[in-house]
Amino acid sequence: MTVGRRITVTGTVQGVGFRPWVYRVARELGVGGCVRNDDRGVLIDAFGPEATLATFVALLGTDAPGRVRDIAVIELDAVATGSTTQFTIDTSRAHGAVAVSIPPDLSTCEDCLAEMRDPSDRRYRYPFTNCTYCGPRFTIALDLPYDRPLTTMAGFPLCEDCEREYRDPADRRFHAQPIACPRCGPRVWVEPGGGDLADAAARLVAGQIVGIKGLGGFHLACAATSSAAVTTLRERKRRDEKPFAVMVADLAAARRLAHLDAADEALLAGPERPIVLVPRRADAALAPEVSPDTPLVGLFLPYTPLHHLLLELVDGPLVMTSGNVTDEPIAKDDDDARARLAPLCDALLLHDRPIATRCDDSVARVVAGAPMILRRSRGFVPRAIALSRPVAQPILAVGAHLKNTFCLAHGSSAYLGPHIGDLDNALAFDFFAEAIERMGRLVHVRPELVAHDLHPDYPSTRFAHDLGVERIGVQHHHAHIAAVVAEHALRGPVLGLAWDGVGLGSDGTAWGSELLLVDGARVDRLATLRSIALPGGDAAVDHVWRISLGLLDDAFDGAPPPAVMDRLPGTQIRVLREMIAGGIHAPRVHGMGRLFDGIGALCLGRTRARYEGQIAMTWNHVAAAGDHGVYPFSIDRATTPWQLDHRPLVRAVVADLIGGVSPALISARFHRTLVAAGVALVRAVPGALPIALGGGCFANPLLVEGILGALGDRAVYVPRSVPAGDGGLALGQVWIAAEGASLCV
Ligand code: ZN
Ligand code: ZN
Ligand code: FE
Repeated sequence: MTVGRRITVTGTVQGVGFRPWVYRVARELGVGGCVRNDDRGVLIDAFGPEATLATFVALLGTDAPGRVRDIAVIELDAVATGSTTQFTIDTSRAHGAVAVSIPPDLSTCEDCLAEMRDPSDRRYRYPFTNCTYCGPRFTIALDLPYDRPLTTMAGFPLCEDCEREYRDPADRRFHAQPIACPRCGPRVWVEPGGGDLADAAARLVAGQIVGIKGLGGFHLACAATSSAAVTTLRERKRRDEKPFAVMVADLAAARRLAHLDAADEALLAGPERPIVLVPRRADAALAPEVSPDTPLVGLFLPYTPLHHLLLELVDGPLVMTSGNVTDEPIAKDDDDARARLAPLCDALLLHDRPIATRCDDSVARVVAGAPMILRRSRGFVPRAIALSRPVAQPILAVGAHLKNTFCLAHGSSAYLGPHIGDLDNALAFDFFAEAIERMGRLVHVRPELVAHDLHPDYPSTRFAHDLGVERIGVQHHHAHIAAVVAEHALRGPVLGLAWDGVGLGSDGTAWGSELLLVDGARVDRLATLRSIALPGGDAAVDHVWRISLGLLDDAFDGAPPPAVMDRLPGTQIRVLREMIAGGIHAPRVHGMGRLFDGIGALCLGRTRARYEGQIAMTWNHVAAAGDHGVYPFSIDRATTPWQLDHRPLVRAVVADLIGGVSPALISARFHRTLVAAGVALVRAVPGALPIALGGGCFANPLLVEGILGALGDRAVYVPRSVPAGDGGLALGQVWIAAEGASLCV
């Protein structure tokens, strides 16, 4: 007997080939009815035997493209509603503008790749091939609804063949807004000279640097096997030592460069195509200048047809680093690239499809067996993060200062924006303001409340002040923990371990190693790290050995053993000591990152950090595997908040150093000590509250894996789909703003 069902599917179900998929499956099963887009998602009226409809609904939940969040089914009277055996796609937009989010950009699908490799196909070797299952989305969308005239494809009228595909409900390209072919779509060229892709590839093979216009911005590319090319790129980009990402043709090529496990491979080949940090093979055919100072290499696979074609032509790994000068945002327009990138390159590979919104590559790593997103941008933005409770009013959170992202929220959805970078730079700030405006339109959020960091001097804080809507200041580490709470949809109080470089505390001092009891908008600071002197302020973060000096003097009451003092540069010590003693331009901070800097610099014999976090990262990478013991530490519970005292640890490190113990063993012990300290702090709090780890230090696998292993009896939540560091902070700010206030007690 024929029965009827009305099925409402919500989630990211538009712009992903959802309706054509429903159409095909309905026809295969013999289900009648129709499918249409609706302002809540996709609406399906289905008619057929009870069992068939059950199968149909089940397949929607398991096999449908996009990301289904919810499937609601109600009964329809099959007779009254006009049961039918035909299935159709209703392309009318019943409710006008569609309030459904635009999907992230999707990497090239297998079907499109097969067409590009087929000499008889009309899209043979066409660099802008795409379909309803793949291609650009977020980076070409100018406004809603997501229809071709409101994308940067508006200037490319469809040819007859493309038009036919676009109109045919049975075609893979039915209503695929960005479709194109060599007759009607975008094209590429090389400047200078007007060459094509093959010309660009030949230049790369010859060791030249080519600026490449991609999906959400530009890359600077060169042969990753050529020391000369990579060195030149470093000089021109003014980037001393920070690792470059490497694009490889496929997983087989990735396996030749790095040791990959199944989780790494799944992440590399996943539709988001992030840069994945993996252990470099000793025999990898890569110039050592690609990633000096680290045993890791950031690999990623091609995610646009143009990348696939280029990698095939070059037949070797390519350095593909963001197309910018260090500290500036990635270039977006051709003229911008001609002005800012051309001086860094030997040639530019351009195309005529404009980029609506910049979106840098995302970065991820497998930690404790599962993916951890370190930079959430292209491929993920603007995918909604589901909140456990709806927000009462539309909210904008502006993030902090470094690695900035912002977050918009309405209803039960939060949308983290693309990676902006450090807001010091005027160009980065313009990008920040422009991206907030564009994202606000695309996800339909007009903020009535803005959340910002407590730091009054951050450009993001000033921007929030200037918006003229209700404002709320959120403490930095509170926001780090709230981001984890929001990501995992936790309810009720949690114990949060927030370890990072720096964030302003509610008492006006620089926090950074906090144990917090977080209950919604309420937060108690239970413990912190004994403060560390930064002689010269931020200059000490560059001249890291100054932090070592402060730690040594503190641990040895001003008289560290000469054998260890010999490891520090002899100059300026007297002046620096006066600064520390008198508290003159020597702020005292609680950042865990500074303990890494100070100990790492001392043991590695480094005096300077070439980029933010370099010493901490190197100190992490040198750690020997296995259990090599723990240094002593103490927790002073007589103070409020409690203090984790680093002096016993520093004294033990010095004894090892003088005793000739290798940095690898010292680093292993150092990490295990911090794991033990974190665990001891958490266990010192009565009860068994769930635990959340937040802040940039928890991108460190040794800390995460150690703490997860030691707290197997407790519920421990780790940042996974949202960055642990300041790139995820805005989500926490949204969550706290929604709770009403940030009350620091
Ligand atoms: Zn495709
Ligand atoms: Zn065409
Ligand atoms: Fe932070």
